[in-house]
Amino acid sequence: MMKKVLVFVLVMLVSVAGIVSAETAAAVSPDAALAKLMEGNAKFNQGNLANLIVNSKPAVREGLAAGQHPYAIVLDCSDSRLSPEIIFDKGLGEIFVVRVAGNIVAPNQLGSIEYAIEHLGASLVMVLGHSKCGAVNATVGALGANCTIPQAAKEGNIGSLVAAIAPAVEKSCHAGASNLLAASIDENVNLVAENIEANSAIVKEAIETKKVKVVKARYDLEDGVVKLFAEEEHAH
Ligand SMILES: [Zn+2]
Repeated sequence: MMKKVLVFVLVMLVSVAGIVSAETAAAVSPDAALAKLMEGNAKFNQGNLANLIVNSKPAVREGLAAGQHPYAIVLDCSDSRLSPEIIFDKGLGEIFVVRVAGNIVAPNQLGSIEYAIEHLGASLVMVLGHSKCGAVNATVGALGANCTIPQAAKEGNIGSLVAAIAPAVEKSCHAGASNLLAASIDENVNLVAENIEANSAIVKEAIETKKVKVVKARYDLEDGVVKLFAEEEHAH
C-alpha cells in the first residue's frame, strides 16, 4: 500500500515538473518575442550590441550548456550581411536561426522550425527576406517567356533554390510588378510564410492555440532596418 502511494506521489511530482518546465519554456509570448527582436534591431542601428556581447560571455555559455529555450525562430537568407544575432543584437540561446539562400522553406527548414516550437518552446517565427537578395535575383534572371521559369533552370543544387523561389517570381511577373526583384522578394516571404502554416500540422496547431505567431519582414541592406509587413500594411 505504501509503495503504491509512493509511486503515485512520484508520478505526480514528475508530472508537475513537466508542466513547470513547459511553462518556463513558453514564458515569452509571441508579442513579447517580437518586441525583443525589434528592440534589438533598433539597438543594432544605434551601433549598440551590448546585449550580444553580454550574452556571449563564458558564464552565459556555461549556463546554457544544460539546455536552451530560444524564444524566437528566424528563417532568413544565408547572405553574409544579415546575421540574425548581429542585426537583432542577440547572444547565445536567444534565437533559433534557420538560414538558407533565399530564405526558402523545404522539409529540412520546416522540420527545424517544428523542432524549435515543439521541443524548445519558441513562440515566434519570423520569415525575413532582404533587399537585393542574390538568390531571388538569380531566379528573376532565369525568367523565360510568359513569366515562366524554364525547367532547365530548376535542375541541380542551385536549381533547387531557383525552383523554390520560382512561384514568387512568376506570380510577381504575372501581376506586372514595376520592380520585379523587390516585388518577388516580398512575395517569396509571403509564400514561405503560407507554406510554413499549410505544410505543418505542428505550426498550424500552435498558431490556433495562440502559442505561436508567424510574422513576415524585410531587412534593408542600406539602412539596416527590419520592417514588418504588417506595419507597412497599417501605414498604407
Ligand atoms: Zn539573399
